[in-house]
Amino acid sequence: MLLEKLVVGSFGANCYLLGCENSSSGVVIDPGDEVERILQKIREMEINVKKIILTHGHPDHIAGANALKEATGATVMMNPLDTEIANSRILNMMLGIKNDSRFEPDEELLDGQKIVTGDICLEVLHTPGHSRGSVCLVGDGYIFTGDLLFAGGIGRCDLPGGDESQMAESLRKIIKLDEDIKVYPGHGPSTTIRAESRGNMYLGDWV
Ligand SMILES: [Zn+2]
Repeated sequence: MLLEKLVVGSFGANCYLLGCENSSSGVVIDPGDEVERILQKIREMEINVKKIILTHGHPDHIAGANALKEATGATVMMNPLDTEIANSRILNMMLGIKNDSRFEPDEELLDGQKIVTGDICLEVLHTPGHSRGSVCLVGDGYIFTGDLLFAGGIGRCDLPGGDESQMAESLRKIIKLDEDIKVYPGHGPSTTIRAESRGNMYLGDWV
């Protein structure tokens, strides 16, 4: 599998590009901004993007989704519980992001669903807490955690739709996974379940 990361936008969101080497099909996770750079990377990787997968509905993760969909013809997928915050003017204002166009995903991302593109298979885990519709995407030996878990940190729960007890429950779910699993978060560097279960001080308090 091909995997590339681009850090996009003023909030430094991680946009991930995955490609199947056999079929040249691919997916993009969280195209938060800088769609031209993402398209450039897609051309370099020589992949056909079939799915745009959103870990949650915050503007720093979704703001480029409509433009990327237009350029690639890919299907946009998000958990329906985040459609409301994805279209929240107040939240956009709080984060200083101008986003006037209505956002509607094409397909729902639901707990337990498997997204298969070529030899890439991602299983959806519903992990609310940072937002109601936050999800993690679990692949073979790796997980995309969105804004649930970071290297040495966790996502905030004080934005609309955030919930501390759901956050703790979702973190407990993730930290039970195999220790060798590599973690690709929505911001900052990658890590592993092992490193976080031993060294992430937030997990001690929360989980
Ligand atoms: Zn977020």
